[in-house]
Amino acid sequence: MPIQFDLDPQVEAAVRRTTELIRDVVLPVEELYRGNAHALPEAVRRELQDAAKKAEIFAPHVGQEYGGLGLDMRDRAALFEAAGHSLFGPLALNCAAPDEGNMHLLEVVGSAEQRERYLQPLALGTIRSCFAMTEPAPGAGSDPGALSTTARRTSSGWVINGRKWFITGAQGAGFAIVMARTSGEPGSPGGATMFLVDADAPGFTNVRAIETLDESMFGGHCELLFEDVHVGDDAVLGAVDQGFDYAQVRLGPARTTHCMRWLGLARRAADLAAERAGERRAFGSALGELGMVQQLIADNEIDIEASRALILKACWELDSGARAGRITSIAKTFVAEAVGRVIDRSLQIHGALGISEDAPLARMYREIRAFRIYDGPSETHRWSVARRAVRVAAHPEGTR
Ligand SMILES: Cc1cc2nc3c(=O)[nH]c(=O)nc-3n(C[C@H](O)[C@H](O)[C@H](O)COP(=O)(O)OP(=O)(O)OC[C@H]3O[C@@H](n4cnc5c(N)ncnc54)[C@H](O)[C@@H]3O)c2cc1C
Repeated sequence: MPIQFDLDPQVEAAVRRTTELIRDVVLPVEELYRGNAHALPEAVRRELQDAAKKAEIFAPHVGQEYGGLGLDMRDRAALFEAAGHSLFGPLALNCAAPDEGNMHLLEVVGSAEQRERYLQPLALGTIRSCFAMTEPAPGAGSDPGALSTTARRTSSGWVINGRKWFITGAQGAGFAIVMARTSGEPGSPGGATMFLVDADAPGFTNVRAIETLDESMFGGHCELLFEDVHVGDDAVLGAVDQGFDYAQVRLGPARTTHCMRWLGLARRAADLAAERAGERRAFGSALGELGMVQQLIADNEIDIEASRALILKACWELDSGARAGRITSIAKTFVAEAVGRVIDRSLQIHGALGISEDAPLARMYREIRAFRIYDGPSETHRWSVARRAVRVAAHPEGTR
């Protein structure tokens, strides 16, 4: 399958409608709340989503039978980037993390009943969800194998016990996809199972919303406690003991869609910086005529184009049905760092204005930092890419 860079006219039209919605409806709301989703009322989230539904760009990644556009990864890339221009854009289109990745997982792994009960309302935006994997030390983090939350079999189902933290979107979520150990010990490579746990299940407590550097994720990042939470066999997502495998099903596309959305924000920052460099004068010329500022602007363009190309390569592999572990690791590492550089340079070009709340650069700077940590820290991805390269060098007949 060749990689196509041009878009289908229908997708192009949807991207145009997204750009208009972001400019006319979403950015004013982002400005009003200064990108702070914790202050954004639920009613405003629904208003934004209604506007996206009216523009026929809602849930672009979800199958049409669930009310979405059913776009493949490559087409999503353009649309998610356009949505990502605003911190609230993905929320408006219902393609924000973690719901977007959870919808994908439910579509691929969920049973017909689970799709009806959880995917359908999630795709319509009537409920939200979270994905609960990370635990305080010594539990799962960069190393998922350290998973210590347990699910013990009973005569009528399972009992879950454990603690999770930094669980995005948990405040107000209708359910959680919880990763728990069903066999083996912390440190064992397998033995994890995913469970669908309703937020009102007895023993499931949202302990606190953790205060973090970033503020734009609706539902915050929470610490969750599971104390003897009983669930039935119908709560098992997919098959028992296959949780780590399903995590890869979710993570490959999810880390790539994160790249798409953050690239949109980087594009916005770079555009603001180029505009500012054209207007602001110093030492007898516009900033944009000074060589060192030109270098910052050029490096922004290089980082953005290289990021987009890597995202498309990852999309192409994923659309071809591959797991795409290597390329999504490479894309995630590069894009997370590149978008950070772009926003940093763009802030620099704005001078003092850049660090003030009079411009959106400071807000962007705060939001982007965590992307080098979640969905695998840069170091973990580099470690995995390097290990694979060494393995391939030792066994050149193996695949990359
Ligand atoms: C904003 C945000 C949102 C998040 N949302 C969610 C969520 O919704 N659900 C969820 O389950 N989790 C979520 N997380 C947690 C996230 O997935 C973890 O933070 C991540 O997996 C890293 O785990 P850790 O924080 O425990 O870091 P640790 O595992 O303690 O690692 C710390 C550092 O060690 C280094 N390191 C790790 N591995 C290697 C290696 N192989 N080689 C070299 N150095 C290495 C890296 O520098 C890494 O940053 C979120 C985190 C953040 C910051």
